[in-house]
Amino acid sequence: MLPPVRCFTCGAPLGHLWEEFKRRVAQGEPPSKVLDDLGVKRYCCRRMLFTAVTYIEEVSLYHTLRARRLRVEGGVQ
Ligand SMILES: [Zn+2]
Repeated sequence: MLPPVRCFTCGAPLGHLWEEFKRRVAQGEPPSKVLDDLGVKRYCCRRMLFTAVTYIEEVSLYHTLRARRLRVEGGVQ
């Protein structure tokens, strides 16, 4: 998927924030906190990055659950 280069609503550049935002969310930080740290205050811009990161959250959640299950199964054996 393509990272959001600019906010569709207000035109603020977001592309330079995307890599850090994506990396920190993938490491488990709440997206809202990362956006605060990055200084993304307008709701239109936050919504842009939130939408783009939904996919990553689903993937990392899947990996977390899968890893947990594998550990449990390993303990049983
Ligand atoms: Zn915006």
